Amino acid sequence: MTKFEALGLQKSLLDAVTDLGFESPSEVQEKTIPILLEGETDLVALAQTGTGKTAAFGFPLIQKIDSNNRTTQGLILSPTRELCLQLTNELKLYAKYEKSINVVAIYGGASITDQARQVKKGAQIVVATPGRMKDMINRGLVNIGKIDYCILDEADEMLNMGFFEDIKDILSNTPKEKSTWLFSATMPKEVSVIAKKFMHSPQEITIGDKNSGATTVRHEYYVVGGRDRYPALKRLADTNPDIFSVIFCRTKRDTQKVAEKLIEDGYNAGALHGDLSQNQRDLVMNSFRKKQIQMLVATDVAARGIDVEDITHVINYQLPDEIETYTHRSGRTGRAGKSGISMVIVTRSELRKIKAIENKIKQKFITKTIPTGMEICEIQLYHLANKIKDTEINEEVENFLPAINDVFQGIDREELIKKIVSVEFTRFYNYYNKTRDLNIQDSGERRERRGERGGDVPTSGSVRYFINVGEKDGYDWMSLKDFIRDTVDLGKDDVFKVDVKDSFSFFNTDAEVTERILSTFTEFKVDGRFVNVEVSKNPGGGGGRGRRDRKKGSFERSDERGSSSRRDRGSSRKRNEKKSSGGNSPYSGKRRGKRKSDFF
Ligand code: ADP
Ligand code: MG
Repeated sequence: MTKFEALGLQKSLLDAVTDLGFESPSEVQEKTIPILLEGETDLVALAQTGTGKTAAFGFPLIQKIDSNNRTTQGLILSPTRELCLQLTNELKLYAKYEKSINVVAIYGGASITDQARQVKKGAQIVVATPGRMKDMINRGLVNIGKIDYCILDEADEMLNMGFFEDIKDILSNTPKEKSTWLFSATMPKEVSVIAKKFMHSPQEITIGDKNSGATTVRHEYYVVGGRDRYPALKRLADTNPDIFSVIFCRTKRDTQKVAEKLIEDGYNAGALHGDLSQNQRDLVMNSFRKKQIQMLVATDVAARGIDVEDITHVINYQLPDEIETYTHRSGRTGRAGKSGISMVIVTRSELRKIKAIENKIKQKFITKTIPTGMEICEIQLYHLANKIKDTEINEEVENFLPAINDVFQGIDREELIKKIVSVEFTRFYNYYNKTRDLNIQDSGERRERRGERGGDVPTSGSVRYFINVGEKDGYDWMSLKDFIRDTVDLGKDDVFKVDVKDSFSFFNTDAEVTERILSTFTEFKVDGRFVNVEVSKNPGGGGGRGRRDRKKGSFERSDERGSSSRRDRGSSRKRNEKKSSGGNSPYSGKRRGKRKSDFF
């Protein structure tokens, strides 16, 4: 008897298991399948992402359904269209030898009438996203009044996405007498609320620690200045030439921007967020699955459905607001027993968030430093050498060898090696040569650097900034205010004390938005020119909003003094990071992969 047989599965399902190549059940399958097969019970099962939860409920569900009866008997709710489709496909494979079982997927972004037609033909199992399900119920296109089984899959993600009300409404259309099975990777408060409200003394199965992330994931953080997020991201990518990653940003806007910049800089990147059409999202996901995209920049919501194996790195370009969200992000890597790395780019002011996450996931972060330019060159060099060493020889080369040997005549082995690796190395060297250290140092040393670099990001009060555009660029105080507000996506009164000079200007905001201002204006270009914003070294011109009507004179002078020297420094710094290569990245002039038009 195989281990799957021992769980009580019938022959047709065991045959499907064999076809799927599953040799032995995972822990969550081993524990849940017998319970679900045995009797009618509510169940809460918690197990990390990638532990095989689908089969844990899918096999029992199919076995328990009456395949001769065409009414809908099982409803599975799933957070996203992608997961919904994936579940449906998976269930169809499980039911391969149960020909009369129909599984239908219901999700947004596709024809509702087509879906209704499929349901009407007789779907014993409906897999749905909450939004579309509610829609179909309201329009009377589906009847879930007779279901025996309701499954809430990836419950934490559904609730995270704000589906609580929808789930409540949907459940109110189901019969009281049914079994509810809830599957989730984590058990946040909201999930226990659902369990309490809608389930009757459910059996509980917990694999591993309730709220911990996958233990195969290593968590690392990198402390940088607020405006250095993007260069830091590039260095992390350059340090990991074989990276296959999801990069999380907080807003659709940042997601799009970071992806565009990466593509412009020659990386194989793509954006995934809610402002893209379904078609565009499918394209991006397909390229990602095929690994044509190495860096997928995504919002949390859009990334929910991603179930791609082998993701080597999750990069938190910005930390999420909710700690719970971090667990979901990092759970994208380290799947199916493989190891993965979750990297967080943070500013000093966010370090307390790292502590909070550590407490939640019960795992320590490793603090790491962003590699220096020369370290990256070294890594790239070894990577290249190994790549050459491991390259399989294409025998067709043989025919051309005499001619090629002629070309290399008189060059000895050592020199030839030097030349070969220089082809790639010089590109990185020219780019990274003389770039500065991006890491923010600790304590004492930091104070010195603060004076030198114009300071870290202030965290409270009102902040005065310098910006390198002014009247010469056609701005007056009103248009500059509008420009900053629109670019950073701020509220009407968030930008104040705008003071436009000839070729530069000053303005204020509350410290709460300083991060956003600085990160927005990192490597930010208008009409091909860098628009640079820095915190004004001398905050004298600032003051709170309450003091807005104070006399200006003395402030202006101190602003100008404080800023002109900084401005020079600012621009020379920029020059270092850019100029030597004559482009924006080591890949300039040499695209690594797909062109951007493919994805935008
Ligand atoms: P979860 O819902 O827990 O995140 P899934 O159900 O999506 O995980 O399963 C993750 C992967 O593991 C899928 O590719 C699935 O086919 C595979 N899998 C599930 N059960 C087994 C098993 N017993 N043996 C081998 N692979 C399995
Ligand atoms: Mg799942």
